[in-house]
Formats: sequence, structure tokens, C-alpha cells
Amino acid sequence: MSSIQASRGTRDILPDEVSYWQRVETIVREILVRAAYQEIRTPIFEQTALFERGMGEATDVVNKEMYTFKDRGDRSLTIRPEGTAGVARSYIEHNLHAQGGVQRLWYAGAMFRYERPQAGRQRQFHQLGVEVLGSGDVRADAEAIALATEILQTLGLKDLRLDLNSIGDANDRQTYREALVNYLTPFKEELDADSQDRLTRNPLRILDSKDPRTQTILDQAPSILDYLGSDSQRRFDRVQQLLSDLGIACNINSRLVRGLDYYTHTVFEIQSDDLGAQATVCAGGRYDGLVSELGGPETPAIGWAMGLERLILLLQQIQPVSPSKVDFYVVSRGEKAESQALILAQLLRRSGFTIELDLSGSAFGKQFKRADRSGAVACLILGDSEAETKTVQLKWLKSGEQTAIEQSALLETIADLRTKISHLKDEN
Ligand code: ATP
Ligand code: MG
Repeated sequence: MSSIQASRGTRDILPDEVSYWQRVETIVREILVRAAYQEIRTPIFEQTALFERGMGEATDVVNKEMYTFKDRGDRSLTIRPEGTAGVARSYIEHNLHAQGGVQRLWYAGAMFRYERPQAGRQRQFHQLGVEVLGSGDVRADAEAIALATEILQTLGLKDLRLDLNSIGDANDRQTYREALVNYLTPFKEELDADSQDRLTRNPLRILDSKDPRTQTILDQAPSILDYLGSDSQRRFDRVQQLLSDLGIACNINSRLVRGLDYYTHTVFEIQSDDLGAQATVCAGGRYDGLVSELGGPETPAIGWAMGLERLILLLQQIQPVSPSKVDFYVVSRGEKAESQALILAQLLRRSGFTIELDLSGSAFGKQFKRADRSGAVACLILGDSEAETKTVQLKWLKSGEQTAIEQSALLETIADLRTKISHLKDEN
């Protein structure tokens, strides 16, 4: 019979790779906590209408990529393709705005989009995201961008490029949209099929097109930056100034637009050339229109999302992360010895040691081989005679030095053991 495999576009994260994920999670948590961000966890599925309203019906995600289904009660539900809409819904539903001030939230979790799988592009993938709700101050934009770069830098990633743009407010965009459509219409037949379709539905998205012919046509297209009103222009200048004050270099990219309709003013992306076609690690921007669009109060907001698979791909290119080591490997043979070993392992774990208990019941020689392979610092050995005398052999694997200790005395020497083990671990 043929065996069942993971679904297309999904993958297992095996223990060796999990070390990278844990490292990212630890660093992210530390950095975000220090910036007074709080974690939020929202449901994996939501009503389909949330994404249709929140992401805009003319976006690729809503049109082509959502996992939407009817449940047994005939409700249309969607497994979340992104995190912002759910966070905004939650913010409104729980009146988080009533607490006054700024809500700085972060989330991490699986997202689902029906896409063509390739390196760095999956159907189930993971995002880390932040959302700052309730501040329209440009410093919020700079702070959010700085946090993203801080995380990537702390992880040791280099050669990243920050692209920045402003897409202005709704008025600016309205006039720009007209100018863009006027410019592109005569070239309509030469545009790629998607772009032709977008010309009426979502013309700004044409700027995103990867098609070479469309790109060439776009070279002469009007730039959004020439359509910013004075307020938008001031904001854009100020964000650039603040980033420069923070020592963060950025590249102005007037073609950068986001696929989602609720974005306003600041948009940005962080890219790496080491990722091939899927170069964007982090993408975000200001979305002052979303919360009110979803029925909440007018709430200026800014956020970003990082694709964790792409981040991990980059990390794997630069540094190996070794999984944490076992302190003691416990070897035992014979019924009495085996049950004493089980108890001893539990006592030592309660004292904070990492213990791997050999369950094979095989000959001592084979158990010792496994002890060596386990990477443990020391081995505890119990056979019939140790069981009889309530002792245990403690063997330091590197030096081979071995001593017998009373089982009851083992815990009294904990402090010494701990010091010795941490020395030996550091040496390796
Ligand atoms: P792309 O242009 O790569 O499709 P996007 O504009 O659809 O990206 P966003 O919705 O802004 O992406 O999501 C933010 C980040 O999440 C992306 O920059 C990327 O790192 C990651 N991401 C998005 N879709 C996927 C996917 N299918 N598989 C893996 N990571 C993804
Ligand atoms: Mg996409």
C-alpha cells in the first residue's frame, strides 16, 4: 500500500530544524518584550467576510489564494491567510481601544494560502507580525521598522535591503490611480494578462508585476511620489529622517505598493538577495483605514509581517545551531537496576538536569555506544550489583574517569555536578 505523505505545500519541521525556530522565537520574544509589545493569539479560522472586507476583494490573496469552506452549519469560513485582519477584529471586538493609548501587539503562527509551492513559498507557512494600533505618529512607523531590522540583525542576518515608499492617503492615491490608468491604457494590449485585469480592478497592483514587458512599460509610468499631498510628503520626509537618525539605511522604491487595500502612507519591505525569487523576508506598512473599514473607530495603525520559513532559510545559510546537550545518559540492566534508574532519572530532572534514559534493555556495551552518540557529558550506570548496594557508577565520558556514589548521596553532590557539567559543556 502506498504511504500517505504531507499535503502539497506543507512540510514537517523536523527536530534538527526546530532548533533554528526556537532560536528565532527566543530572540523575537526578548526584543519585542523590551519594546513593550504584548502577544496576542487569535483563531486560525475566521468568517470569510473578515478577509474579504479587511484585505479587499481585488487582491490576489482573496481572489485566488484563500482556503475557504462551508462548515456543517453552512457558514463560510476561511483558514487565515494572514494575521492583521484577525488582530484588528479582536481589537474591535474586545474594545482594546477603550484602554486608551497605543496597543502594541505581536503574533506568530501558521498562515494558509493556496499558492504554487516553491522554495520559500508554501501553502502552510508561518508569519511573525506586529501591529501598533492607535498611533498615527510617524515615530510609530520608524519604531516598527527599526524593530524589524533589530530582529534580523540580532539573528546575524546580513546583506538585507530596506525598500521604503509612501502611497499617500486616499486622495493622493485617487489622483495617482487616474494618472496611472491614463498612462497604461494605451499599452493595454501589451500588458501581461494579470495586469490587464488589474487595470480596472486594482491598477496600483500592476506596479508589482514581475512580467518583463510590463516592467519596461512601467519605466516611464508616473510615480506615486509626484502625487503626494503636502501632508503626505511631510510624513514621508520625516520617516526617512527618523530612520536615518537611527542609522537605518533605506532605498526609496516608488514602485513598492502593497497588495492590500487598507494600506496608507508608509510601505516597506526588507529583502535578501540570498533567497532567490522569494526575496522578501518582511513586509509592512501603515493601514489607517482598516479598523474603521471593519466597523471599529477610526484607528491609525502600522504593522509588518515576516515570513519565518524565509528567515530560517537565511539563518541556515549562515550558522549551524546545535540542539541543547544531554547532561546524563542513564544506562541500566536488570529489573531492579532498571526501576532504580527510572527513579534516579526523575530526581535528577527535578534538580534541573537533562537526562536521557536508555530503554533498550540491551547489553551494557551497546548502551555505552548510544551514550557516546547522545552527546551526553556523563553516564550513570546501574547493574545488579549497584542495585543491591544502592549505588550508581558515575562515568565522565570524555575522560573516562569513573566513580561509585551512593544513590542517596548523589543529590548531595548536585552543586558540584552542576559546576563540573557546565565546565565540560563549555569546553565542547
Ligand atoms: P509575495 O510577494 O512573496 O507573495 P506577499 O506580498 O503575498 O508576498 P505578505 O502578504 O506581505 O506577502 O506577507 C508577508 C511575508 O510573509 C512575505 O514577505 C513573506 O516573507 C511571507 N510569505 C507570504 N506568503 C508566503 C508563502 N506562501 N510562503 C512562505 N512565506 C510567505
Ligand atoms: Mg503573495
